[in-house]
Amino acid sequence: MIKSGLDKLRIEYVSDFPMSRFTWLRVGGNANYAIYPSSIQQLTNLISFLSKMGYPWIVLGEGSNTIILDEGIEKAVIITKKMKAIEIKDSGEIVAEAGANMGTIMNRSVRKGFAGFEFAAGIPGTIGGGVFMNAGANDSEVKDVIKKVWLFIDGKEEVVSRRELNFEYRKSNLAEGAVVMKVLIKLDRGDRKLSEKKVKDYLDKRNKTQPIKMSNTGSIFKNPDSIAAGKLIEELGLKGYEIGGAQISELHGNFIVNRGSAKASEVLKLIDVAKENAYKLRGIILEPEVRILG
Ligand SMILES: Cc1cc2nc3c(=O)[nH]c(=O)nc-3n(C[C@H](O)[C@H](O)[C@H](O)COP(=O)(O)OP(=O)(O)OC[C@H]3O[C@@H](n4cnc5c(N)ncnc54)[C@H](O)[C@@H]3O)c2cc1C
Repeated sequence: MIKSGLDKLRIEYVSDFPMSRFTWLRVGGNANYAIYPSSIQQLTNLISFLSKMGYPWIVLGEGSNTIILDEGIEKAVIITKKMKAIEIKDSGEIVAEAGANMGTIMNRSVRKGFAGFEFAAGIPGTIGGGVFMNAGANDSEVKDVIKKVWLFIDGKEEVVSRRELNFEYRKSNLAEGAVVMKVLIKLDRGDRKLSEKKVKDYLDKRNKTQPIKMSNTGSIFKNPDSIAAGKLIEELGLKGYEIGGAQISELHGNFIVNRGSAKASEVLKLIDVAKENAYKLRGIILEPEVRILG
């Protein structure tokens, strides 16, 4: 039923798709379906179809902040990364589809002489994922540049302002089942040379401090109020600690790297070790920033 429906909708999909081929951490079992809408129309048709069939689904962008369990995910995984149109207007307004890559939006805006999105240099993922997570770095966040978001929710399109998304640190209030289709970003005119310098500095800093050459999923934990999570994990003596193929990065305590053969279960055990130690030894509750799905 589902297959024939997807065929009728003419949307690209793969059944029994190994999510380890998709997530940045390269772990996770199979999804029943990985489906790749390439336009907003395809996205809304797809969600309407799956919802009508009562078939469970989730939406992902580039899987750069997501751990999928080894048991896999008995759902249709809607992957937006092919919905990637970006329009940059002379006014500094940028309209981008949910699957547009944040780095691409940033590079193109800098080339056109707009400032304000440089902070995103080196943050992987789509703008849809960026809105959901309120992704940020270098003292700025997606909330600082977003003006409006077009959502698909309960079978209807809805436009919400930044204020209505109640952004907090690495958090938006997007309801379960609300899907970002498109966003409006507003940037100011800037100095291209200055912006390029900022981007270079941010990337240089990342290259020195983050294990970018190994599969990872960015920061594992949100930073507690009292101390950066990476510093805390370093102080707990856990840098380099390994379980199976997963390791707390030797370079950055808040990153877990896949040394080649890691399983999601090993990553989750490392997460537990860090949480337990932080609580027992320092009384600090570490809250995961990564999304764990399955
Ligand atoms: C090397 C590395 C460095 C990183 N550095 C940073 C950093 O500096 N700052 C930072 O904030 N993050 C960082 N991250 C984490 C990650 O890049 C961001 O959270 C990013 O915004 C996730 O985007 P994504 O498209 O990959 O989301 P995914 O991982 O695909 O999804 C993340 C969540 O967003 C939801 N989602 C995705 N698309 C949509 C949509 N269209 N509508 C509704 N919900 C959606 C998913 O359901 C999921 O819950 C880093 C990750 C890596 C691997």
